[in-house]
Amino acid sequence: MSRMPESSVSTKLVIGNWKMHGGLRSNEVLLNALVDGMKSMPPGLKVGVCVPFPYLAQANALLAGSRVEWGVQDLSSHHEGAYTGEVSAVMAADFGTRYAIVGHSERREYHREGAILVAEKAERALEAGLTPIVCVGETAEEREYAFTERVLSAQLSAVLDRLSVEQAASMVLAYEPVWAIGSGTSAGVDDVRDVHAFLRGQLAAKGEAVGRIPVLYGGSLKPENAAALFAVPNVDGGLVGGASLSADKFLPICEAGAGQWALG
Ligand code: PEP
Repeated sequence: MSRMPESSVSTKLVIGNWKMHGGLRSNEVLLNALVDGMKSMPPGLKVGVCVPFPYLAQANALLAGSRVEWGVQDLSSHHEGAYTGEVSAVMAADFGTRYAIVGHSERREYHREGAILVAEKAERALEAGLTPIVCVGETAEEREYAFTERVLSAQLSAVLDRLSVEQAASMVLAYEPVWAIGSGTSAGVDDVRDVHAFLRGQLAAKGEAVGRIPVLYGGSLKPENAAALFAVPNVDGGLVGGASLSADKFLPICEAGAGQWALG
């Protein structure tokens, strides 16, 4: 395992990934509750929600000027053109979008997205002024065969090889073990500590500033386990799926990040 210095990020970043959930009415209730809930959180905490494309305008309208930022869950790897059904990074940016998740395991698996395509998407996001949240993670089988580091390294290096040091220093990395996503059981604290230290080392090898980017943990984060996972060295926040669909669950997770804030 790497002996790189631990994260120097002193604020937690908590991002909700709504996946293919939502509706105009329910979104309004949820987004308003998040805006209200964030008013009493410590200033260092950063929170965002990645919504389905049709709700970007609604997120822009309801969240602008609040402490909740918004993002998309995917992007086209192309700039523009005859790519039916695709949405470009520039289009997303038109709606005040801050974040773009790229390389989520559901995209890698169900849409056969490979490492190079994910790297291109990260590059498109950065060119449009968005912050890509690059997801990496191993399957249960890969973990069983002790391939975790090899898999993560291949996924991450495709992105780092494509980006300049300056670009890579502007991204966010999310470690999302595929076997933990939606399972109800997160990865254990010891596993997360080891993997995040490994990822920190890989990032730092690209450049000092890259070694300091936020590295999030994702996979069955919930109010009951968030504080313990956020306290792990090199965990700079979380990517939250199911629990981001309810303010009653998402806000306590954010609060767990706020609780870590003073500790740095
Ligand atoms: C995700 O899909 O990004 C995720 C973290 O999902 P969940 O929190 O539901 O495991």
